[in-house]
Amino acid sequence: MNIHTHILGFPRIGAERELKFALERHWRGEVSEAALEATGKQLRARHWALQKEAGLDYVTVGDFAFYDQVANHIQLLGCEPARFGFDHQQSPLSRYFQMARGEEQHDHAGCSHAPADGAPASSHYALEMTKWFDTNYHYLVPEFSPQTQFSLACERLVDEVAEAQALGHQVKAALIGPLTFLWLGKEKTAGFDRLTLLDQLLPVYSALLDRLKQQGVHWVQIDEPILGLDLPGAWRSAFESSYWQLNQVGVNILLATYFSPLEENLSLACRLPVAGLHVDGIRAPHELSGVADWLPAHKVLSIGIIDGRNIWRTDLDAALDVLRPLLDKRGGKLWLAPSCSLLHTPFTLAPETGLAPELKSWLAFATEKLAELALLKDALAGNGDSTALAVSRLGVASRRASVRVHRPQVAQRLQQLSPTADRRDSSFPLRQALQRTRFQLPDFPTTTIGSFPQTSTIRAARASFKRGELAAADYEQAMREEIAHAVSRQQALGLDVLVHGEAERNDMVEYFGEQLDGFLFTRLGWVQSYGSRCVKPPVIYGDVQRPAAMTVAWTVHAQSLTDKPMKGMLTGPITILQWSFVRDDQPRSRTALQIALAIRDEVQDLEAAGIGMIQIDEPAIREGLPLRRGQWDGYLEWATRAFRIAASGVGDSTQIHTHMCYAEFNDILPQIAAMDADVITIETSRSDMELLTGFGQFQYPNEIGPGVYDIHSPRIPSTGEMVRLLQKASAVIPPANLWVNPDCGLKTRGWKETEAALANLVQAARQMRGG
Ligand code: GLN
Ligand code: ZN
Repeated sequence: MNIHTHILGFPRIGAERELKFALERHWRGEVSEAALEATGKQLRARHWALQKEAGLDYVTVGDFAFYDQVANHIQLLGCEPARFGFDHQQSPLSRYFQMARGEEQHDHAGCSHAPADGAPASSHYALEMTKWFDTNYHYLVPEFSPQTQFSLACERLVDEVAEAQALGHQVKAALIGPLTFLWLGKEKTAGFDRLTLLDQLLPVYSALLDRLKQQGVHWVQIDEPILGLDLPGAWRSAFESSYWQLNQVGVNILLATYFSPLEENLSLACRLPVAGLHVDGIRAPHELSGVADWLPAHKVLSIGIIDGRNIWRTDLDAALDVLRPLLDKRGGKLWLAPSCSLLHTPFTLAPETGLAPELKSWLAFATEKLAELALLKDALAGNGDSTALAVSRLGVASRRASVRVHRPQVAQRLQQLSPTADRRDSSFPLRQALQRTRFQLPDFPTTTIGSFPQTSTIRAARASFKRGELAAADYEQAMREEIAHAVSRQQALGLDVLVHGEAERNDMVEYFGEQLDGFLFTRLGWVQSYGSRCVKPPVIYGDVQRPAAMTVAWTVHAQSLTDKPMKGMLTGPITILQWSFVRDDQPRSRTALQIALAIRDEVQDLEAAGIGMIQIDEPAIREGLPLRRGQWDGYLEWATRAFRIAASGVGDSTQIHTHMCYAEFNDILPQIAAMDADVITIETSRSDMELLTGFGQFQYPNEIGPGVYDIHSPRIPSTGEMVRLLQKASAVIPPANLWVNPDCGLKTRGWKETEAALANLVQAARQMRGG
């Protein structure tokens, strides 16, 4: 038997986010470039040692990056946009950070979780950032034009290989493939097709492969995850000739695919002239058997059998059942790996001492996944470590059977759900009439998206409350005062619909997760989002239900301070789902429905407490779209239904708002309309209202608040600017349906700029009313 184990990549941020802190110190000028490089070297050595200690046959080199792996490739391949290349005094690393962060501090902090799809207009210098496939990781977008040239321009990868070899490791180098690299970039010249750059790019890849070969590297993993996308014909057919060319170098190429089934690209992937193919056995288990049949016998088949996107302990017995027939088909030769890079999972469970032992026994983070690989290999070879296997089995069995996971009341409620629970009592025009009578708002009503500045005072109060230094009653009092402050400022500004300001919320998902059954929180379960930014997603392990009201007291307090309508503020089911690690023992749609019912309870409680407007934020609806278009409808159907279930438990005169940001909507407008929120607020100011054209053409039926104030930038927009945007909006949307609001929440802004901008915003609305 010939079984090898490896990984496609490891989290680079470090067990205690060492890389994050070193980077931020370096950016503040507190540590030198050399010191930062030393931290990087130390982390790499540590992470390789973990792979070796776990018994992996190779350590993977090339997954490390000071900011982003795509940015590494931009330097490696010598295609930094010209604007970064002028200063010869500058080190490559400082140019690299300039690409990532721009001249000045790049303000990616507008939304509470992630940066915008597309860089803020204020950053003329940095590269844009966007999501890495369907993950919450963001990469820097390469820019291509007819002037783009490639060359082997950076020694970093070669140096890292030498570093690992010097430590005595068997190295597998990892690269992003040429087609995926081009695909991920964007054309900076109209009418230019970046695929035409391929012929220029391939010789550089060949030269690089040759360098690695000379270093004694036997295997190079080349990632081409775009083989899991719906590719245009020209891109598909470019694969064969490209890999034919790269294969001439004579180094073993392991072509890595992940995140999505290969479908129509499956036979193409199998016949490419490479030495091995990695497939994602978690996202596409149904394709494994076919790949094992199709892939020529002399090639290596690497099975991604451990979930690289989630944090659950692997059911090793189920994995063995999958692997054994494959091993037979492959004549006893197989490679085992996680489905994708472990970049998307937290580092290790070891410091999670605060978790109940039962819960902890269900989990496996990156380090624990390495051990699982070794266990699988041993078990397949027939010499398993029976104690470790037994412990693992126990963890899996415990999660399956646990009463913490399965709550009969939740199952019962889903079963009894009325078929009309996802519909409001009346159609929108009827509701609109009732709501107009009830609220008596002026034309172009003004409001904000929910959060007001999270000042250092607020954060300090929360931190000392969490440390147990501030008593609960004192913390509550402090937050009530912050709310009162936000309300009085809004009154003074003359806004029409007020919010409480979200002072009491650390994060729009965590805040709700902490109060719902079925969620757990880790101490150090950080995952890199971009650069030095990490997020610590909640873990949804069991049936979700709401033991008690979550926001009612704060909202009622805020409403008691004003005669203006106070908008209740909730996070929607899909956003909660999307920004968490989700249980894998039932369909995501079912978990979404459970969350929806918990939010529905909150919506109803708010209504009963006299709150007449309730906003359910769903900024993550679009990012949940599957990578394959063929699966969009299925997802959108359950996602929009979950929203409607959350929103539809109230009477006609209660006004439901929703908010979405940093998204393109045009291809999912029918589904957004089907959510049937009375009012939707969206981000539009950075695209100069471009986004609205789609809403106009589609004749979006309900009310819309297109953002007129870009909150990603400290700049204060003038009244005139906002009037111009509103006029533009009025040309495509019936003015009677328009609201006036910022693009997103104001939590990352300061009070001073916020007040100045909102004063102009109120003024702009007044001008539009002709007053
Ligand atoms: N209500 C949230 C806020 O104002 C919405 C944040 C978001 O859209 N990401 O902060
Ligand atoms: Zn937003």
